[in-house]
Amino acid sequence: MTSVAVLGSTGSIGTQTLDVIRSNPEDFSVEVLAAGSSVDSVIKQIEEFKPSSVVMANAEACEKIKSEFDSLQVYHGKESLEKAATQSDIIVNAIVGFAGLPVTLSALNAGKRLALANKESLIAGGPVVRKVRESTNAEIIPVDSEHCALHQCLRGNGVNSNKSVKKLLLTASGGPFREWTQDQLKQVTVEDALNHPTWKMGPKITVDSSTLMNKGLEIIEAHELFGIPYRQIDVVVHPQSIVHSMVEFIDSSVIAQLSMPDMRLPISYALQYPERGQASWGEIDWKSLNRLDFEKPNEEIFPCLSLAYEAGQIGETAPAWLNAANEIAVESFLEGLIAWVQISEVIQRTLNECDGNLAEEENDIYAADKKARAIATEIIEKL
Ligand code: NAD
Ligand code: MG
Repeated sequence: MTSVAVLGSTGSIGTQTLDVIRSNPEDFSVEVLAAGSSVDSVIKQIEEFKPSSVVMANAEACEKIKSEFDSLQVYHGKESLEKAATQSDIIVNAIVGFAGLPVTLSALNAGKRLALANKESLIAGGPVVRKVRESTNAEIIPVDSEHCALHQCLRGNGVNSNKSVKKLLLTASGGPFREWTQDQLKQVTVEDALNHPTWKMGPKITVDSSTLMNKGLEIIEAHELFGIPYRQIDVVVHPQSIVHSMVEFIDSSVIAQLSMPDMRLPISYALQYPERGQASWGEIDWKSLNRLDFEKPNEEIFPCLSLAYEAGQIGETAPAWLNAANEIAVESFLEGLIAWVQISEVIQRTLNECDGNLAEEENDIYAADKKARAIATEIIEKL
C-alpha cells in the first residue's frame, strides 16, 4: 500500500487525484490532505478517505475542522504544509500558484516522489529546485499533461540521453481566443476567459490558458524538468488537445503521446510509475476521431509566449518575477480591475523592472516574488 499526501485536495487536480485513489483502494491510501479554506469539501474528504492529518491554509479553517473530528491532527500554515510534504510515499502537489513552492522543496529535500501539478513552484524556484534535485534521490514525475506526455516519449530513449533530442514540441489548445482578432480581444469578459474549449480546470490556470501564459510557463517547466535548452523547445497549437506533446529526435523521428483530455490519466501515471495502472480515462474512440489539426501560435496576439521565453533565457530570479507578475495580473483581471489585454502589459512592465538578482537559495526566490508582486501591484494601481 502506497501512502499519498494530496495537497490542494479540493481543487480540480486534487479531486481528480482522489478519484484515481478511489478507484485503486488496494494500491493507495490517503495519509494527508491539505487545502486552502474550503472547510465543507475537506470534511467530506476526511469522512471518505480517513487521512491521519490535515493542513489548512488558515487558522480559522483549521479550528472548524478540529471541532468536527476529535482524534484527527489538524494544522495550518506554511511550516505544517512543509512537514506534510515529507509524510507520505508520494506527495501530490496540486496547490495553485506560488504557495506550492514550500511543498515542492520540502518533498524533494525529504527524498520523496513528487507528483507535480504545481508548475509555478518549478518556474519561480528553478535554480533552487535544481540544486535540491541534484543532492537528493527525489524524483519529480510531472502531472501537467504536456510534461507527462514528454516524460512518456522520452522514456524509451532513457530520460537523460538528451543528446539524441532535437526538439520538444509542446502542444497548446490555443485557448478560447484562438481565432479572435485584436479588436475582439479588447472586449474579453471574465466569463469568456473562463470558458476553456477542451479542459475543465481551476480559474487561475484557465485564464493562463486564455493568454497562452500557461504554455509560456510550460516552456520553462519543460526546460527545468528535462534540461533541454530553450532554443530546442517549440509550441504547436493543436485545438483538439489529443496529442499532449511530442519529442523530435535527431534522426527526425517524432514520438507523441495521445489520449482524450482527462487529467486522471497523467495523475494515474505519476502515481503508478514505472508501472501502468489499468484504467480507461482518456481512452480514444478511434471510430469517431477523424482529424488532428496543428498550426503555429500567433505570438503577436499572444505576447505572453515570448515574455516567458525571455524570462526563461535570462534565468536566475527572472522566471520568479514573470510568475509573480502573472499571478497578480490574473487575480486583478478576475477581480475586474484590469482588462484581459492588460494582463500581458502588466507582466511586460514588471519584467522591465527585474533587478536580475541571482537565485542561490530559497530566500532569494521569496524576495524576488515579493518585490515583483509589489511592482506589479503598483503598475495596476496606476492603470
Ligand atoms: P484549483 O484552483 O482548482 O485548486 C487549487 C487547490 O489549492 C485548492 O484545493 C485550494 O484549496 C488549494 N490551495 C490554494 N492555496 C493554498 C494554500 N496556501 N495552502 C494549501 N492549499 C491551498 O487549481 P487546479 O486547477 O487544480 O490547479 C492546481 C495546480 O495544478 C496549478 O499549479 C495548475 O497550474 C496545475 N495544473 C492544473 C491542471 C488542471 O487540469 N486543473 C492541469 C495541469 C496543471
Ligand atoms: Mg498543461
